Amino acid sequence: MQSANLGFPRIGKDRQLKKAVESYWAGKLPAPQLLQVAAELRAEHWRLQQAAGIDSIPCNDFSLYDQMLDMAVALGVIPPRFAQLDVSPLERYFLMARGQAPGVELPHEVPALEMTKWFDTNYHYLAPEFEHDQAFAADAAKPSAELAEAAKLGIAARPVVIGPVTFLTLGKLRSATGDRFDLLDALLPAYVELLRQIVAAGATWVQIDEPILSTDLGDRQREALVTTYRTIAAQLPQLQVMLATYFGPLAENLTLAAQLPTAGLHVDLVRGQEDAPLLVDALPADKIVSLGLVEGRNVWKVDAAAAIALATPLVEKIGADRVQIAPSCSLLHAPVDLDAETELDDELKSWLAFGKQKLAEVQLLATALQGDQDQATRTALRANRLPHVSRQTSERVVSPSVQGRVAFVDEHMQRRRSAFPQRRPVQQTALGLPAFPTTTIGSFPQTSEIRQARAQHRQGTISHDDYVATMQAQIREVIAFQEEVGLDLLVHGEPERNDMVEYFGESLDGFAITRNGWVQSYGSRCVKPPIIYGDVSRPKAMTVEWIQYAQSCSTKPVKGMLTGPVTILCWSFVRDDQPRSETTRQIALAIRDEVEDLEKAGVRVIQIDEPALREGLPLRKRDWDAYLTWAGDCFRLASSVVADQTQIHTHMCYCEFNDIIEAIAGLDADVISIETSRSDMELLGAFVDFRYPNEIGPGVFDIHSPQAPTSASMLRLLTKAAEVLQPSQIWVNPDCGLKTRQWEEVRPALSNMVKAAEAARQSL
Ligand code: GLN
Ligand code: ZN
Repeated sequence: MQSANLGFPRIGKDRQLKKAVESYWAGKLPAPQLLQVAAELRAEHWRLQQAAGIDSIPCNDFSLYDQMLDMAVALGVIPPRFAQLDVSPLERYFLMARGQAPGVELPHEVPALEMTKWFDTNYHYLAPEFEHDQAFAADAAKPSAELAEAAKLGIAARPVVIGPVTFLTLGKLRSATGDRFDLLDALLPAYVELLRQIVAAGATWVQIDEPILSTDLGDRQREALVTTYRTIAAQLPQLQVMLATYFGPLAENLTLAAQLPTAGLHVDLVRGQEDAPLLVDALPADKIVSLGLVEGRNVWKVDAAAAIALATPLVEKIGADRVQIAPSCSLLHAPVDLDAETELDDELKSWLAFGKQKLAEVQLLATALQGDQDQATRTALRANRLPHVSRQTSERVVSPSVQGRVAFVDEHMQRRRSAFPQRRPVQQTALGLPAFPTTTIGSFPQTSEIRQARAQHRQGTISHDDYVATMQAQIREVIAFQEEVGLDLLVHGEPERNDMVEYFGESLDGFAITRNGWVQSYGSRCVKPPIIYGDVSRPKAMTVEWIQYAQSCSTKPVKGMLTGPVTILCWSFVRDDQPRSETTRQIALAIRDEVEDLEKAGVRVIQIDEPALREGLPLRKRDWDAYLTWAGDCFRLASSVVADQTQIHTHMCYCEFNDIIEAIAGLDADVISIETSRSDMELLGAFVDFRYPNEIGPGVFDIHSPQAPTSASMLRLLTKAAEVLQPSQIWVNPDCGLKTRQWEEVRPALSNMVKAAEAARQSL
């Protein structure tokens, strides 16, 4: 029986790739050196896999930025605005990824490809852009070069490419008419040619990723899958294809996937365990099956006994020579190496496995499932057992008091005391805000002074009192600025927060923060999600002192700022021993405690950010309702503890609300701020059509753009909003937090925004 890997994190255990790419962008590292760093990382990761004993090791899983971008380049899907430029291929590649870099003179504007989330992960890919008459051309230089590099290390690697149907589905069709699947006829010859070049470079197997198979498929997608794999099989009979799907069960697509004429099929048996009993009957007798038994996108040590129990009947029926053991998906979504965590305690570490450790787990399972287990395997299996016992029984994991509280959550706790029409006048009287009230989303520029103070505090090089004094000085300045510029509802600016989830993870019980558990989010950007390992509770207030201090600096109301339970869940590594809904409910209770304390401290407005609510949506539509129900319940559980006069805000930095507007309205936040400036308010449509009853702050300027918006442009957006909403519903705010901006940008932007609101009060 063989072991296989589907992909390894490419950033490097010390984020070497991030650092190299960013210094290349900054003009500090020449291209050859960047490529050298990349080659060294690939070699290091191949050696790791080789040392772990993995039989089938991937190549072309590496990327300088993103695997979808690599695929677009390999298939010649290069939009004219980039193709026309007289630049090197490497420069063109990064221009496609990031758009025009500051300081680079180009003859015309080159907006980057659009970036969007990779299925339900926190990884973002670049969407290829298709013209309605898109031409394709194969270029296998990258996979071929990686095959050759791996061969030098004695590895006959299996190149990974994204499948044509996933590629077409995830791209953007630039013309309004036409169907993307009409492009398949043009794409397939290039795709086959790409594979032909890969075969010529020495590959006998390729891994073709079609995670789209784990989603609801339409007829065109099903047809496209059949056409694609029949064509590949007919034209390249010598090539063995491992068709890989992951992130969920194949479910109703199982028969389709199993019948496609490929040599192998990889299935995700962690998220798609329900496929397991159906596999044997679905698989043709000669197909090789790759069993994804080790969770590729979470941090928990595999439960070897459970995985073996799941796989044994399959191996018996299918035959060990036709089975491969693999991670559930590419390890791209896991941190690189647990050995780098020197500050986690031994018990917690014994429960975890990162990328490197997962390789060993795959190998262990493959060996164990082989049958005749040697002494070393038996010892390793026993060693795997112990941490699971300790995790199940540890007092750090199970808190009877938290579980008791969750058991007593009832409908009543998830509902405000009165309905919005009754709350509204009470809040208006309590707050006394003008029409078109102005506010911001929470954070203000995170200056180097702020970052430095936080770092010194973390390292213990400044005293706690000095740290508090520095932060208070920052808060004073931010409050003074907001008063001066004339904002109505103020914020403290969030200087004490490194990250809106990690900050709360640091304060809550049941969370661990890693030092080096970085995962690629997009391009050179990495995130370090906290690990939720146990029942969640709040040992003490987390934000009250900061907000109270801010409020003491002004007679205007200051908003309390919290991250919502769903967002904390979505941006953390979550427990695998209870449903997401259960963990979120616990977080919601902790946030509820904070909301209650804020209210007691006299805070009259509390914002609970839920930017990740939409991204938590399950891949299959049939699971949406259940998710939206518990997500909404958790938001209301966190927020409904307050009196009528306390105003609850929420914020979501996107605006595709059409399909979830009912659930958004169901949150019953008094005010929601959303992004709409980039779409010229068009995307308010969902709220208008739904007759959204509560108040809305449609962002009037794009915080991602460095240009200061004029008050005329913002007044125009407000006028547009007032045409479709009641003017009394409208708030005036930017479309997200300002922490990535400079003060020089923020001052004029907010001053103009206040002027736009004043003009709106006169004219609308
Ligand atoms: N309150 C947060 C901020 O202003 C919200 C960030 C977000 O929406 N991602 O930074
Ligand atoms: Zn936002």
